[in-house]
Amino acid sequence: MNKMIIRIPFVDLKLQHQPIQTQLQQAIHAVLEQGDFILGQALSDFEGAFAVASGTEYGVGVASGTDAIALGLQACNIGAGDEVILPANTFIATLIGVLRAGAKPVLVDCDSQTALIDLEAATKSITPKTKAIIPVHLYGQMVSPRQLLDFADAYKLLVFEDAAQAHLAEREGFHAGSVGIAAAFSFYPSKNLGAFGDGGMLLTRDSDVAQKMVRLRNYGASQKYYHTESGTNSRLDTMQAAVLHQKLPYLPQWNRDRLTIAQQYDMELAPLANAGIIPIQNQSDTGHVYHLYVIRVDDTCRTERQQLQEKLTAAGIQTGIHYPIPCHLQPAFTSLGYQQGDFPQAEKLSKQILSLPMYPGLSSSQVKEVVAAIADVVSIGSHSDPSSAVVGSIAA
Ligand SMILES: *Cc1c(COP(=O)(O)O)cnc(C)c1O
Repeated sequence: MNKMIIRIPFVDLKLQHQPIQTQLQQAIHAVLEQGDFILGQALSDFEGAFAVASGTEYGVGVASGTDAIALGLQACNIGAGDEVILPANTFIATLIGVLRAGAKPVLVDCDSQTALIDLEAATKSITPKTKAIIPVHLYGQMVSPRQLLDFADAYKLLVFEDAAQAHLAEREGFHAGSVGIAAAFSFYPSKNLGAFGDGGMLLTRDSDVAQKMVRLRNYGASQKYYHTESGTNSRLDTMQAAVLHQKLPYLPQWNRDRLTIAQQYDMELAPLANAGIIPIQNQSDTGHVYHLYVIRVDDTCRTERQQLQEKLTAAGIQTGIHYPIPCHLQPAFTSLGYQQGDFPQAEKLSKQILSLPMYPGLSSSQVKEVVAAIADVVSIGSHSDPSSAVVGSIAA
């Protein structure tokens, strides 16, 4: 095969950082001068700012989103003997966080159109041991807060949000991170708000949860060298917090850019619905922050998902699959006792989904180019590449 040149990348972080490079460098320099690298001033400043921006009270910065889930659940007193409901089609960190907290993960299926957790299915998985549900605000779209709160109220469960893909997302008047007892965020570089390395945060309006989280991330110390419980070392670096705080004011505009790009994708892709290309449904209007823009390559499409992805790659367009294997079918977790067929929607989606290039700065002509390349592969009427038409009809 010919050498592949990336013409449209999946994400472009340089584009985001270049215009604010000077202020980012100044923020890093200020920490160097200050020297408070661990639990420094810039960390508490950013914790407060991110909590306020997300409509809640306390922020506790940790080393990663995974730690925000694992330690956050512990801070909410969720652990051994407790069952925690989560969707099967999430990033594996949600599951790993529950296991690390010592609780039993109970997976449930998702909605076929939105890919969000199916609360109806969740109802059927409740037992006397169920303590909490983790809604994952997948791809940047919140699970309905009203439905979540009704659900939690009806069954006396805690809501612990996995908001790792949903910084400043909104729905029904709630911000991501302000719905449940606590919420976990990730600042992995390519997230909507990303650090220059790993990072995460727990948000909560419960001061007991916040205080316990502050101990857990710092060896379980209530004050220096006094350990009231066993914790770990998981702190968001002061340097990372300084960078994130500089980026925070730009986040609303970056999210709006993502929305505009998504709206253009929606519009340009609409004619391809007949050809079996269906975007994941947005039920939250302008509150969706489109961490990812995901389409489904439906059964009715004459092209297989893999074939579409390969042809886009060949055309210089990078795509992703989030995620190719649902949690219950991952080899590491067979001991949970799930098998193929347990979560039909999650399994079907894993075979159909494709994430298109999405990042602030992706231009309107690039979006057009991506859609044109997809149309070229899947459209019945397309004659631009006769060889693909033949392969396509054999596959169909
Ligand atoms: C990124 C992500 C995480 C984990 O965050 P890390 O910072 O990578 O540990 C957890 N859940 C979801 C849904 C994510 O997308």
